[in-house]
Amino acid sequence: MFKKILIANRGEIACRVMETAKRLGIKTVAVYSDADAGSKHVAMADEAYRIGPAPVSESYLKVETLIDVCRKSGAEAVHPGYGFLSENPDFVDALDAAGITFIGPSADSIRAMGLKDAAKALMEKAGVPVVPGYHRETQDAGFLKIQAGKIGYPVLIKARAGGGGKGMRRVDHPDEFMSALSSAQREGEASFGDGRVLIEKYVAKPRHIEIQVFGDKHGNAVHLFERDCSLQRRHQKVIEEAPAPDMPEDMRKAMGEAAVKAAKAINYAGAGTIEFIVDVSEGLRADRFYFMEMNTRLQVEHPVTEMITGEDLVEWQLLVASGKPLPKTQGDITFSGHAFEARLYAEDAPKGFLPAIGTLTHLNLPDEQARVDSGVRPGDEISPFYDPMIAKVIVHGPNREAALGQLLASLEATKVAGCVTNAGFLTALCRHEGFAKGDVDTGLIDRDLESLVSEPDMPEDALALAALTALGLTKAPKSSDPFDALAGWRIWSASRQFALMEVAGDRQDVEVQVLGDHEYAVHLGETPATYKLISIDGSKFTYVRDGGRKLAVVVRSDNDLTVFLGGHAYSIVLPDVMSSDDDAGEAGDQIIAPMPGLVKVLNASAGDAVTKDQPLVILEAMKMEHTLKAPRDGIIAEVMADAGEQVLDGTVLLALEASNETAS
Ligand code: ADP
Ligand code: ADP
Ligand code: MG
Repeated sequence: MFKKILIANRGEIACRVMETAKRLGIKTVAVYSDADAGSKHVAMADEAYRIGPAPVSESYLKVETLIDVCRKSGAEAVHPGYGFLSENPDFVDALDAAGITFIGPSADSIRAMGLKDAAKALMEKAGVPVVPGYHRETQDAGFLKIQAGKIGYPVLIKARAGGGGKGMRRVDHPDEFMSALSSAQREGEASFGDGRVLIEKYVAKPRHIEIQVFGDKHGNAVHLFERDCSLQRRHQKVIEEAPAPDMPEDMRKAMGEAAVKAAKAINYAGAGTIEFIVDVSEGLRADRFYFMEMNTRLQVEHPVTEMITGEDLVEWQLLVASGKPLPKTQGDITFSGHAFEARLYAEDAPKGFLPAIGTLTHLNLPDEQARVDSGVRPGDEISPFYDPMIAKVIVHGPNREAALGQLLASLEATKVAGCVTNAGFLTALCRHEGFAKGDVDTGLIDRDLESLVSEPDMPEDALALAALTALGLTKAPKSSDPFDALAGWRIWSASRQFALMEVAGDRQDVEVQVLGDHEYAVHLGETPATYKLISIDGSKFTYVRDGGRKLAVVVRSDNDLTVFLGGHAYSIVLPDVMSSDDDAGEAGDQIIAPMPGLVKVLNASAGDAVTKDQPLVILEAMKMEHTLKAPRDGIIAEVMADAGEQVLDGTVLLALEASNETAS
């Protein structure tokens, strides 16, 4: 086995690979771009090397630089992760030439499967069923259109070098063929430097079912059952599961055998995936699956296979790459239960899944109830340079229903503030009736897109809790700091307080009255609602409204509040009415009101010893709270205002004894 490996990747997959390497006692070498200098994968590794600026073409795709780092660090092998150089045969050749092991298949295997048209021709020859269509050399537009007519519409034009759902166009009518062809060609050329296409019959009610295969350098090949990745958006996987719902045993056997045949046809060594498209217009049938392509790498969704088989696929990769035979024979590989994986991305689903960037000011991943593979930590940034993945949330249950319940609960427990996520979209999918029944196909998301991305309206409770937080009323009731405790139950019940809040650009003034110990009347609609805070644990509240007890989490980062309630995240901004700072109004021996306002809290009496920066007064002005602190250590000489009093700006609220009378 290797003693030291380099991981030529970043984010969650780099961390995932390192987990296994560490468990096996293999030293790890990370590489990073300037944008990733402080990333989790760098912190996890035994050694880390800078390889260039943020753009991938200047860092993670730099073959020579990576080989240099192998030499410098003494890494014997390279794990490519997925994406980046994972399916680049020239990289494998360069490593071979340098005497470094590629943890993956041979350059020849990658080349054989690299182009969809050649791969299909090869598979056809090997006796693996392929999607009916045209996948030969001639690329004349008129000729291609004739082929499409022969195949029968609808057809799918695919860039032969395509990947990640790019370079594909569905054509329903001959009139649309020419323009779809040229746009597929353009996209293929732009994204992959190859404008050539193949044409496939568009499978009627398609399900994407793929088989995990593994080969070794001794001619063995096995499969580790199937994954269903039919929940897709724009040909990109969203939620994956294993096994495939309602898969008949004869079909599972036929697909597994076909996949192993495919792997053997190219002397495959390492982890690979044979992707099939399945026509389910007449249900799942053993004669209705067709080879689409092979991914010659570890797949993003490999964890669902690990969960049902109990195998560590990265460990298998390392064993095979180091020359060992496969750890198990086909007959020894079994599966149990059901697993799901959801891809949590920083993207704005209602805004057309726009990728989002931002700092993860709050990140609470459900790692107590699920397996979470993530490359980010609280405070990390989702940068514009790479895939905006935050985490993969992976669950395993005794059966599909139980596992889906776990997935939903885990996603609802996921709390991210600082950038928008697709968590709401994912939970909506978990609640989708058809998905719950296992009635999936690749068109499911598109058909119900509108309801899946619709955001719930801001609930009154979210606004109310935000208002209480903004007004400083959600401090722990049993705080040892008397100044905090004051906030809850002062006599200023008569006083009306206002919190100015902004929701989706609209400002709203929310009136709050204190009724009693942590009990408030919040005016949101016609009649005020009563909220009682039962317990406060950091940012977590239990509260009662209208007799019902509920749980919420409110996190604040500067003027941004995020309220997590019922599995959703709601964003509220506290507008900066004035650019005041907390220290306003303190000067020398006095505390002076910096603006007209209401003295909400006054925590001092004559003779008290105070220390510099001790909060003494909370002044509410222009709907914002301002904390006025002691300007220095000293003794209070006089208190000139009362809590609940409205004061003018410039009013002296407190005076300290002259400094020569206090020992400092
Ligand atoms: P797999 O087939 O392994 O599940 P995909 O085909 O979904 O992987 O993705 C292939 C590559 O595209 C991966 O490198 C992945 O990082 C990237 N990718 C997948 N989904 C997205 C996304 N929503 N945004 C950006 N990149 C993505
Ligand atoms: P990529 O390399 O981008 O992953 P694939 O060939 O694997 O491209 O196809 C991606 C997705 O497009 C599939 O998962 C499936 O949803 C859809 N698709 C591909 N081929 C067909 C087809 N012939 N009929 C219907 N849907 C298809
Ligand atoms: Mg694919």
